[in-house]
Amino acid sequence: MAATTDTVHGRIEGVRIELTPTQLAVGLALVAALGFALLFVQEPMLHDSMHNFRHAAGITCH
Ligand SMILES: [Zn+2]
Repeated sequence: MAATTDTVHGRIEGVRIELTPTQLAVGLALVAALGFALLFVQEPMLHDSMHNFRHAAGITCH
């Protein structure tokens, strides 16, 4: 394996060659949708963890 294919740029170039622009657009749309879903699902968990962190640090909020 050549060193240049091990870089992120090399992988992206390889994907561009293997996938059609339509496949690439669909893939990016799926990744974006999944990212948004995870963001909304994890938001309460993130809030709770920050809340617990504040209490652990001795900061009271209620
Ligand atoms: Zn609190």
